[in-house]
This record gives sequence, C-alpha cells and structure tokens, in this order.
Amino acid sequence: MRSPPPPDPDPVVVRDESGVRVTVIPVGWVGVRRSHVEFGGPWSLRYAAIAVDRRWAPWLPVNVVLIEHRRGIVLVDTGEAVDQPPGHFGCGDRVQESIYRRYLRLPVRAGADAPARLRALGVAPDAVDTVVLTHLHGDHTGNLPAFARAEVVVGPGEVEGYPGATACRVTGRRLVRPRFEDGGIAGFARSTTLVDDGSVRAVPLPGHTIGHLGVVVDGARPTVIAGDAALSYEQLRRRGTPGVARDRTENRRTQERLDTVARAGGQVVLSHAAPDAP
Ligand SMILES: [Zn+2]
Ligand SMILES: [Zn+2]
Repeated sequence: MRSPPPPDPDPVVVRDESGVRVTVIPVGWVGVRRSHVEFGGPWSLRYAAIAVDRRWAPWLPVNVVLIEHRRGIVLVDTGEAVDQPPGHFGCGDRVQESIYRRYLRLPVRAGADAPARLRALGVAPDAVDTVVLTHLHGDHTGNLPAFARAEVVVGPGEVEGYPGATACRVTGRRLVRPRFEDGGIAGFARSTTLVDDGSVRAVPLPGHTIGHLGVVVDGARPTVIAGDAALSYEQLRRRGTPGVARDRTENRRTQERLDTVARAGGQVVLSHAAPDAP
C-alpha cells in the first residue's frame, strides 16, 4: 500500500431523538492485507494466508461512536493514537509488535484523533463517563489514556488476552466486566446496563474476539454498535468472515443476529465502514 489514505470524512449523526444523540466519528484509517479483510478457505490456514498475502486491501476507515445521553456520555472505542512509538502495539510481546508493524498500517492525522475530534464537537475528553471497548485490538484502544476519567467496559476474556490483544492498555483503569444479567434488548437475550435508565446497554457479540462487545441504544428503531463483527455492510449480509476473527462459527451467529436487527428496521453501525444515512 503506497497510496496515502483518503481525506478524513466528517462525523455523521446517525440518531438524534428522545434526548440521545449518536455520532459516528472517523478517527483514522487501517490498512491490511486482503486475506485479513476476509478469508474463506480452511479456517486453520487463515493466519498463514494473511502472512503470505502481498495484496493490500483498500483503506478502511476507523470509527468511534459517541453516545450523548442526558444521564451520561458513552464513547464506543477510542481509535489508534497519532504517535506509535516502538513497543506501542506489542504490550511487551516482541512477536505481536512485529506482526502489527508488518501486517497493519494505522495512520492517524495529527488533530484528527478521537480526543481532538470530540473536542471539535464540543465534548471534552474528561466529560466522557464510560468508554466501551468492543475488543482489545490496537485500532480500538490507542487513545484510552486521553479519557482518563472514564470507567472502561471490556468484555469477558479480553483482558486475559489472546494474540493481537493490546490488553496492557487497560492496566490501572477502573474496569467494568459485564455479566449480561440485565435481560433482553433489541432481540438480544442478555445485556448489561450502561446508562441508568436502561436505554444504553452492552451485549455480547462474540466471534471476532473472545469477549467482543456491542452497544445497543434502545428505541423504536434500535441502534446496535457492532464493532468488527463485519468490516462492511455487504460482508455482514453475506456472512463473510474477516481473516483475523477468532471463531468463524460464532462470528456468523453474531452476524445473523445483527442482520435480524437490521431487517426489523434497526440500525447497525460498524467500526470500519462509513455509516448508512439515518
Ligand atoms: Zn478487530
Ligand atoms: Zn478494528
């Protein structure tokens, strides 16, 4: 991939009703090989396929999602950081560090990272009450230090680690580990309340990683922020699986659930695709 990433798109308000505004905010780009975006061959060969694949996929946007609710401000994911010094990705593991450096490009323009873009929207990083990390891949966790006051919601098994997890980035933070004991919402059987009126909740969306999370904003037309369950809306409908997903069967099950929400009129928001117009 020799071409620089495209200009950063503007934030998109995908929902603004009943005192809740949801804004999808592009905060950089991710460049990966085509087999990383999707792998359809024998599942045990997926990492080998990515390792030998010399074809870069088109740049994918990296989005964070801001939920402004009268009872609290929730940010879903934090994007990567502008500065990526040696050791930034590996969490002390040199193999992981070299894999990130070799197989991923995560450019973020100065002044266009998540903290700067929130400030431009009038939201100070310290005003964020809760950061939900859909999972611990680097492009979702890089700016966590900027949101120092927030509690951090991380799914089951994520902090315990897996290849590619930037788990060290949550060390020392006030963590919430959802147990999904708050009943169903928007077709999901289990959830954990994030804002005390129950209208914003975390739900399990396993498959991409062990504890991959989604966030549901309830309403006549629910919004599901679905992280990396798919890398495009077309891939979601087709049940294609990114080559870095942990479990293809679980990922497909998660995609089926999301597609059911979409077909019932709900709105699905992905981390690496421009949002559909509201
Ligand atoms: Zn990911
Ligand atoms: Zn991602």
